[in-house]
Amino acid sequence: MIRNPVPWPNGARCAVAITFDMDADSLIHIAKPQDSHRRLYPASMGRYGPGVAIPRILDTYQRLGVQQSFFIPGWCLETYPETVEAILKGGHEIGHHGYLHEDPITTYGSQREWFERALDAHLRICGEAPRGYRAPVYNITDEVLDLLIEHGFRYDSSMMADDIPYRVDTANGQLYEMPVHWGTDDWPPFAHYEEIGYMMPVKSPSEGLAAFWEEFEAQYAAGGFFMLIVHPFLTGRLARWQQVEAWMARTMETRDVWFTTLSGIADHLDALQAEGAWQPTVESLPYVDSPPAA
Ligand SMILES: [Zn+2]
Repeated sequence: MIRNPVPWPNGARCAVAITFDMDADSLIHIAKPQDSHRRLYPASMGRYGPGVAIPRILDTYQRLGVQQSFFIPGWCLETYPETVEAILKGGHEIGHHGYLHEDPITTYGSQREWFERALDAHLRICGEAPRGYRAPVYNITDEVLDLLIEHGFRYDSSMMADDIPYRVDTANGQLYEMPVHWGTDDWPPFAHYEEIGYMMPVKSPSEGLAAFWEEFEAQYAAGGFFMLIVHPFLTGRLARWQQVEAWMARTMETRDVWFTTLSGIADHLDALQAEGAWQPTVESLPYVDSPPAA
């Protein structure tokens, strides 16, 4: 059971969002700043995303008639403007994902510069400010949360305190949280990337994806929210994406689901509250004022 299920539009049993983080080769440039330009293997692995996977993914979405959310670092917006244009043309949402995939913990204290540089790239290249944010490596901090609220963001999608969307309140304001978790992230089953510290045994497409579909079944049964947090260069590979596409088509045909963007969910939550039909669970931050062990 879910404590506080959201009444989804048209009586749908479950909201479904397949969210892609298009990190591309920003990952190697931030990890190995001294010589990333010489490391052609990881750069090419990342470039498979905008070059090969995104067109494939957009083609599927168009055929199935769905709009979804993509999170893209500012540097990738600047480097792959044609990919960005194709995503926007399909009616999809692009959220903030740092500038060069910098970790908000290791760049703590200088986040404003990185954050606003990325924001500037969104305005220039997408023509609008993003409504949502996902922290690189999920490492959102109080510093970033303050920036999100200051810049009027509607939601974050980096934290894990509930099964379904909830609200985060701070002394400065509030936003929605679209919660992530590792069970619906493709890094553990599919990433093999020594340069950034991941040496996972790569699972077969069906085995890796099966874990996601089990998560969906539980959310569907409880009337919840199913979100994938996946990467074009991992889940957009041919064999994996064929299976995701088949799952999407089958699910749309046989289940009562609402495929949507995270921004679409934020709008829906606003509308429910305006009607007095539902109230989100609230997390008040900070959790603690200082490290208890210090
Ligand atoms: Zn990322």
